[in-house]
Amino acid sequence: MPGENCAVFGCGSCRRTKGIGIWKLPLAKDEAHEKWREEWLGEIKKTREMDWNFRELIKYDRVYTCEKHFAPEDIEIFTSAKMTKKKLRFGALPTLNMPKKSHETEKPAARPARSVPLSDSSISTCSSRSRSVYYKTFSELCQKMKSLKSLNEWSYKTFSDRLVIRKELEQFLLPKLEICIDNSLGFTVKMFGSFLVDDHELYLKYHRSMQNVTLSMLVKELEAYSL
Ligand SMILES: [Zn+2]
Repeated sequence: MPGENCAVFGCGSCRRTKGIGIWKLPLAKDEAHEKWREEWLGEIKKTREMDWNFRELIKYDRVYTCEKHFAPEDIEIFTSAKMTKKKLRFGALPTLNMPKKSHETEKPAARPARSVPLSDSSISTCSSRSRSVYYKTFSELCQKMKSLKSLNEWSYKTFSDRLVIRKELEQFLLPKLEICIDNSLGFTVKMFGSFLVDDHELYLKYHRSMQNVTLSMLVKELEAYSL
């Protein structure tokens, strides 16, 4: 039932999420409960627009809130051999893990005006937890680099805090391409001695991190640019 999801904007908890307590808005059975209900709803309204969906949830009394938004001390846990039951302390309000206002998150401020390749949006919408990364650590990258065939024509220097990979051409004084990777896996590219502009599509696409691209992919793309 879609109506049984947590009503907090952007929260994915639903009633079947294992182990997560989720509670319906308290019924206004007396004055104290009515006040609690209004305050609770007020917290959700702070970050959720009163759209048609939300109005329907309220109308049919299907506004649920999951335990992620309540302080641990507001949740009482009863365990028996058969089950665990979680109960919310009277008057507890959802104030934790609340999102920014929905209309703010829909329009990110610092979005470049140009169109960004699809792969970029899929990277940025995945959470960093679920997405697999190409390299976890700087030393892993250094290790893997040594066996890369695509780097045959490149030279490299390893420093304690960074790695510099260069492709040099004899007729030019400056290296044709230079990739500098720091020990937090951020990368910077120079082409004939000049840094790429900060909003270069390669940077936008991979968020300037070697976690989002393999070294051989990056080298291949750079070589295609500098032909
Ligand atoms: Zn929630």
